[in-house]
Amino acid sequence: MLVVMHKDASEKQIQNVLAHFRNLKLKPEKLPGSQRVTIGITGNDRYIPNDEVSRLPGIVEVIHVTHKYKKVSREFYAKDTKVRVGDVVFGNGKPVMIAGPCSVESEKQFIKTAKFVKKLGAEVVRGGIFKPRTSPYSFQGLGYKGLQILKKMRDEVGLPFCVEILSVDDIELFAHEVDIIQIGARSMQNFDLLKRLAEINKPMLLKRGPWATVEEFLLAAEYLLSGSNNQVILCERGIKTFESSTRNTLDLNSVALIKKLTHLPIIVDPSHAAGNHEIVGPLSRAALAVGADGLLVEVHPNPLKALSDQKQQLDFKEFEHLMKSLQIFM
Ligand code: PEP
Ligand code: MN
Repeated sequence: MLVVMHKDASEKQIQNVLAHFRNLKLKPEKLPGSQRVTIGITGNDRYIPNDEVSRLPGIVEVIHVTHKYKKVSREFYAKDTKVRVGDVVFGNGKPVMIAGPCSVESEKQFIKTAKFVKKLGAEVVRGGIFKPRTSPYSFQGLGYKGLQILKKMRDEVGLPFCVEILSVDDIELFAHEVDIIQIGARSMQNFDLLKRLAEINKPMLLKRGPWATVEEFLLAAEYLLSGSNNQVILCERGIKTFESSTRNTLDLNSVALIKKLTHLPIIVDPSHAAGNHEIVGPLSRAALAVGADGLLVEVHPNPLKALSDQKQQLDFKEFEHLMKSLQIFM
């Protein structure tokens, strides 16, 4: 970290800043320049927020050399983290397809979809049971009854499942019963949930909040890594922009950037990004071309009858077509 002093800063102010950092058990070093003094700080094993120092008299700017996050960064761990879920590996160079309906609606609907997506190469099945809906009048999910269906699918079809958690009250249950715990976009900054999930050792899928910068997204992942867990998969699912012709804007910059900044695997959810089944195919191909470690795609046996996210779910024919078009990446 570099602390730039005002060109008219007095020696007393400079000494005051040096003393402040020494008190914090850091190593400040005075670096005199032709116009002004800069103070280089080393020895910090935590990120020091600007507002902890920038009020000291004589300081004009605080420049951070390292990132705010540590454990998620490649500087902390240079290799690619591989997240294993049974036989499935995220971050291994081979993209993983997670597919399934937006919501678990019935045993018939869910198991039929799971069997179909498995036949075409999906390795994890998705399906929400507690749905975070904007309107309280929309379908809220089957709740715990849905969990029984998810487990039945695992027994009958033999694939692991991924399901969103909404409440801290369900952590213990999910830790025992669920293969991948999904932290949805709306929960990305539910700090209580993140802190409690950091205490359990379990594969987790963290979705990017539609309002969140890449830095905020990675800081949310840092919460999860701050305990004993290191099995975190990131998921880009589109962000809010001024563009209103799609549900969200798929930010593929973030995928390319996050591959550089962190060691964690990152997958892409083109379904919630697009909000439209007609463009899920091209977005999926673009995501894998940019280096995503997998995809999360919504598939429903009869999207017209779906209880949530009708417009973006692929029917079986569309999913078959998609999987064929992804062969060059798989
Ligand atoms: C979902 O995947 O079911 C979902 C609700 O997505 P998101 O949290 O990205 O909106
Ligand atoms: Mn959905």
